[in-house]
Amino acid sequence: MAPDTFELNYSKLRAYLDCPYLYRYTYVQGRYAPHSPWSSLGQTVHRALARWHANGGDLSDLIAYYDEFWQAKGYATPGETLEFYEKGRDIMERWWTMAQEKPQRALYFEKVFIFEFNGWRIRGTVDRIDRLPDGTHEVIDYKLGFDERPPGPLEEDLQLALYAIGVREGLGLKVSAVSKFYLSRMEKVTAAYDGSRDAAVLALVKGTGEKILAGVCDRKGRCPSCPIRDLCPESEARSGTAV
Ligand code: SF4
Repeated sequence: MAPDTFELNYSKLRAYLDCPYLYRYTYVQGRYAPHSPWSSLGQTVHRALARWHANGGDLSDLIAYYDEFWQAKGYATPGETLEFYEKGRDIMERWWTMAQEKPQRALYFEKVFIFEFNGWRIRGTVDRIDRLPDGTHEVIDYKLGFDERPPGPLEEDLQLALYAIGVREGLGLKVSAVSKFYLSRMEKVTAAYDGSRDAAVLALVKGTGEKILAGVCDRKGRCPSCPIRDLCPESEARSGTAV
């Protein structure tokens, strides 16, 4: 039986599903994965947009929030820092233009949900929730979207499915659509949500939570693309340059 204070969120689940050793390194040993240019830029952009939507203002305010939340962590050289700063600044300017041309119908930005399930507390923060004309709601997750790999089907996206359940269970809102908004190209991809996968998603949460509690480390993830490949004692892809 899980203790009632044990909290799960998508990041914990994702880490364990990617590799149990990544979960252990990050959440049991409290050693955080190093920042990357993408993770730093993602945090900066999310925070700037959330602050601007909360406070309002013009483009200069949005840029000021972007500068305020700018994180110079994870960049290898000053040139890389400047390159990513410009990428993010371009997103700010294009977001501003889009917001002028197409007014937002958002109900919430950066909205926290919490619900209890099977002895766990599930928590998440949804980038945005829109109210649709029929009174139902759309859960929207922002992605930077510079990755050229084609995204998987939205209907199978664990994060969106968990957030849809969380919005319904934790906030009492009916959800009929889930979306990813790709900030690099100002493009939203949407799928209908009908709750038909909820049982499978919650079964995955339950099974993963039980393995986490039991400390099961019975497999390894993809070491060559792992963010801690040079730090992890179990790594099969160390470059030999890090301790
Ligand atoms: S380096 Fe390999 S074993 Fe270590 S956390 Fe990453 S994927 Fe898992």
